[in-house]
Amino acid sequence: MQYYSLGKQSPNVDFKTAAITGQAPDKGLYFPTQIPKFTAEQIEKFKTLDKASLAFEVMKPYVGGMIDDATLQQICAETINFDFPLVPITDTISSLELFHGPTLAFKDVGARFMSRCLGYFSKHTRAEKPSTVLVATSGDTGGAVANGFLGVAGVEVIILYPKGKVSPIQELQLTTCGQNITALEVEGSFDDCQAIVKDAFMDAELNAAYNLTSANSINVARWLPQQLYYFFAWQQWVAKYGDKVPMHIVVPSGNFGNICAGMMAKASGLPLGHFVAACNDNNVVTRYLDSGNYEVRKAVATVSNAMDVGNPSNFVRIMEIMQNNFEALKSGLSSYSYDDVATASTIHRVYKTNNYILDPHGAVAFLAAEAFNQPAIILETAHPVKFPEVVEEAIGETIAIPDSVQFLLDKEKVAIPMDAKFGVFKSWMLNKVTA
Ligand SMILES: *Cc1c(COP(=O)(O)O)cnc(C)c1O
Repeated sequence: MQYYSLGKQSPNVDFKTAAITGQAPDKGLYFPTQIPKFTAEQIEKFKTLDKASLAFEVMKPYVGGMIDDATLQQICAETINFDFPLVPITDTISSLELFHGPTLAFKDVGARFMSRCLGYFSKHTRAEKPSTVLVATSGDTGGAVANGFLGVAGVEVIILYPKGKVSPIQELQLTTCGQNITALEVEGSFDDCQAIVKDAFMDAELNAAYNLTSANSINVARWLPQQLYYFFAWQQWVAKYGDKVPMHIVVPSGNFGNICAGMMAKASGLPLGHFVAACNDNNVVTRYLDSGNYEVRKAVATVSNAMDVGNPSNFVRIMEIMQNNFEALKSGLSSYSYDDVATASTIHRVYKTNNYILDPHGAVAFLAAEAFNQPAIILETAHPVKFPEVVEEAIGETIAIPDSVQFLLDKEKVAIPMDAKFGVFKSWMLNKVTA
């Protein structure tokens, strides 16, 4: 399996190079030269395969022999060693709960897989410099990446997060690890953090000093394993409804990595239904599907902050899956967008009516599922406790903090304050290397 750059100006690379470099030299995103096609027989077998074996079968073609089978089996088993339950909310809408991992968000899957791959590659190559993972986060990526990479030898992680714009638990998750994890508290928005990371990847001096890579969903090692929970959801759906009822899927979307992974799973033969991208006021894709005009705007802050993305990086991959055909895109993907008022009142309503606590991202998805108006699953991408202000206000009760994150409350935040200027970041990085 080879990967080509969607920028079309760089040579093809293998999985290892794509994972280590993150982005192609021409700044394009990597995309597999062929999407693996599972046979009807394989799909039949997938219905009842255990999660770890299924994960291995799905990921193996993408890894393309760059990791030996025994190690890849172990990486897959560790990546998915928690639950992905499909829980009914109403008669027609079920929630695929993706928040049972160590940092209570779906990004644990991609972060765990990617960290173990990079750890393996760094052990088996004599790189003269360790890998440095640079990541911008609106909240959840940082925690998942910090947790996934903590203690991985040969990999250093630097996380940029917007000051005051992540929730208290999110902040603790990304600032209390220590060891090989450093958090930078940036005076600015998520888009500012992402812009600094993008500039860093293009900067000759920084690239000479560091082996930089990204752990955002532009990295194939983080993006592709997100396909797995669509397979797990489908297993549960088929067990319940049989394989004649289409499983439509509503995905709360920001950078569109998650939904794009689902569309890859479908393109590789998994019989999934229609995809619906649920967006907050950052709705460039919703407007595009309505009007045919792709019009980027600056991100605005909302209560579903993991979706506060003005220019979703993975949309080019979705267009590639759809062969850059607008009509094909529209037949496979719909999108709806909702504001903060609708989000909060939905958290309230679903709690009162269905006794289910949605997080703000899940609430946007729930609204989109109602608008779509066919039986569907929504992806619950984070635990509501990560957004206590909004959720507790909406339901009028406090949410219990799960045992798995209780320990964070005793830890001390360690973060380096930083202006949202690339020059400041760059000199900090260059000083670090000589320090
Ligand atoms: C990251 C995130 C999203 C958006 O996922 P994308 O892959 O960027 O579209 C949605 N919800 C939560 C809770 C997230 O952390």
